[in-house]
Formats: sequence, C-alpha cells, structure tokens
Amino acid sequence: MNKERLETKPVKHPSLKDVGVSDPRARLKALSDYASAVEMDHNIPPQRYYRSGVEMIRMADMCMKDDLKYAYILYVKFITIFVEKIRNHPHFHLVPLKDKEQNQQTLRKVIPKAEEIKKQLLEQYQAEYEKYLEDVKLRERIEKEKLKQEELEKLREEEERKNKLAALAAVRAAKAMSTNVVTSEDKFKKVPSITPKPLISPSSDIAQTSKDKRTPTIDRSTKPSVLMSDNHTLRDMVLPTKLMQNFLMLAFNNTMNNKETCGILAGKLERNKLLVTHLLIPEQTGSSDSCLTHNEEDIFDYQDQHNLITLGWIHTHPTQTAFLSSVDLHTHCAYQLMMAEAIAIVCAPKYDETGFFILTPEYGLDFIANCRETGFHPHPSEPPLYTKAKHCKLDVSAMIEVVDLRRK
Ligand SMILES: [Zn+2]
Ligand SMILES: [Zn+2]
Repeated sequence: MNKERLETKPVKHPSLKDVGVSDPRARLKALSDYASAVEMDHNIPPQRYYRSGVEMIRMADMCMKDDLKYAYILYVKFITIFVEKIRNHPHFHLVPLKDKEQNQQTLRKVIPKAEEIKKQLLEQYQAEYEKYLEDVKLRERIEKEKLKQEELEKLREEEERKNKLAALAAVRAAKAMSTNVVTSEDKFKKVPSITPKPLISPSSDIAQTSKDKRTPTIDRSTKPSVLMSDNHTLRDMVLPTKLMQNFLMLAFNNTMNNKETCGILAGKLERNKLLVTHLLIPEQTGSSDSCLTHNEEDIFDYQDQHNLITLGWIHTHPTQTAFLSSVDLHTHCAYQLMMAEAIAIVCAPKYDETGFFILTPEYGLDFIANCRETGFHPHPSEPPLYTKAKHCKLDVSAMIEVVDLRRK
C-alpha cells in the first residue's frame, strides 16, 4: 500500500519530563517550546502538511474537554508550521490556492483560540503551584508537630523511668530492711524469708514498651500528585474485534485471487483513548505483495464530513505471514510521523495470523523517515525497526462502521 499522508516531522523534543511543578510561567514556556519544536521534512510534499493540518485541528478540537494541554500543543504546532515553517518549503508554490485559503481561515480562528487556552493553562498551573506550596507547608507543619510529640514522649519516658528506678530503689531498701530483721532474729528461730513481689516490671520491659509506643516517622517518599511529570507514553488504541473479521470478509475475493487489500483506520479521541470506529476502503489496485490506493480525495472528504482522524491502516498478506515489508514500513512511517500511536495491522489469513505493529519510536521511525530508497529494498535487521503495538486493546463489543469507497 502506497498511501502516505499524515506527517509532521518528529523532532528530538525537549523532554517534558523535567517540567514538574515549577514556576507556572516556566512550565508554560517549556510546553510552548516543546510544541513549537517542529522540523519540516522537505522530502514530504507541502500538500501533505496541509492535509495533516486539517486533522491536527480536528484532533485538537476533540480533546479540548479532556486534555487542554494536548489541544494547546496541537494548536501551537499548527501555528508554527503554517505561520513560519511551510513558506520555506521548496515546493510551497505547488500548494493549491484553495488549500492555502482554507488554511488561512483556520489560522484566523486558531491563533486567538491558542491564546485563550494559554491563559487557561496558566491559571491551572498557577492553582496547581499554589496547592503544591500549600501541601509542602502542611507537610512541614505535620512533621514539626510529630517531632514535637516525639520530644514530649521522650521526656515522659525519661520521667517514668526515673520514677520506676526510684520505686525499685525503695523496694530494695524495704527488702534489705526485712532481710536484716530476719537475720537478727535468726538466732532464735527460723522464719521463712519473704521475697517481696517486684512492684514493677524489669527495666528492659520499660524500654520495650516505650519503643512500641513510639509513633512512626513521617514517610517522605509520598509526593503530591501534581509533582508527576508530564507523561508522554502512547495512549491506548481501542480496536473492535469485528474490525479484523469484517475486513477479511470484504477482502475475501482478493485474497482468493492472491491480491492484497488495504483499508484506513479512522476514529476519534475520547477520554484520552483513541477509538477506531471506521474502516474506510479506498479505491485501490492490489497485487500479491502490494496495494496502491487511488482517489484519496474520497477518503479525505468522508473523514471531513464525519469528523474522523486517521489512526492507522490495515492490509492483507494473502499468502505470506503477518510482518511489515520494507514498502510497508515506508507507508507506515507517514502515519506514525503524524500520530505517534498510529498502527499498521497485517492480516495473514493463510497462517491465521494478525499483526499489530508500530515502528520503534526511538529508532525505526527516524531510520525509515531518513531512508530515501523506494520499492522493495533491504534494511538492516538490528536493532529492530518495528515492533508489536502494545498499546492496542481489542474490544469484543465495540462496533465498526465499514465504508467501502471502491467503485465496483
Ligand atoms: Zn505488507
Ligand atoms: Zn527504506
């Protein structure tokens, strides 16, 4: 499958991990820096950036409620690309006028929107920071109080120990006196000696008791949740189990004729999860080891009308196992550059195998993005260029809408 469309060049981003609860303005600045660190890949036609822009805004709108920070990142990325960077693209003049105009319209809305979110984020960070400072103060107060209590407890124990020692001394004195009496009378008759029962427990017991009573010291390892660093792991991608079944059914004739079939996975972002809700089948020409798509505009139009974002793609291997060929890797690269979670599903009915793959984010993605070869070509096998997509979750009860755009 040769469909490449969604991409913004990944960049060695400044890490967000270090941005914990610090000064709210510094925190916001780190976020803006992170978002605006976009590098354009001039090997990717500028038209594709314009297409990606449409989906970036769609995604940002979807997560306004759940994830304001992510929406802000997307808006800033969009502004960075289309206000600054795209003009330097050597093929900028090839972008159709209507795309540029539409983009300008979007920019006019996005810029004030980003400013508004920035204000909201600043307020939120300010509130979190104040809460954090309050927590620190509270913890300090609790700790001080604890220390004071421990100090008092020690004093009390010391006093108790002294009292007991005094009591013990008194008992000993009394005992010594009674023994003396017996001894002096011993000359006349034997009197059984009286050993007074100790009035108190031995001093070792005192130590034990006081140890048990001592309150545990405060646990300094617990930190307020706001100290958590911004977590940029992959969000879950939820796939209906029916997706694979339906796709294989619709590909059946091609598979029997040893021809690949491909489809686009589209859906939405909901509560920080990516949900695949639609399977779109574009016009295509398949062979035994490839699948070319045509009339991509049909797919774009459908996604625009139904507010869908692209989440990956699926294709069959009619006679081979489930793996990603070199051509597949290049096709997939374009998806994953746009969305870190985008997946490639390979269905190998002959082997009853289904593979859910992504390029390894730390190596394969960059490697393939920089590989200039086309057609089937060898890649080094180590370190691995792609891996199983562990963020995929199958949902047996979820529905999938199949949209077949092939002209029969
Ligand atoms: Zn393949
Ligand atoms: Zn390559």
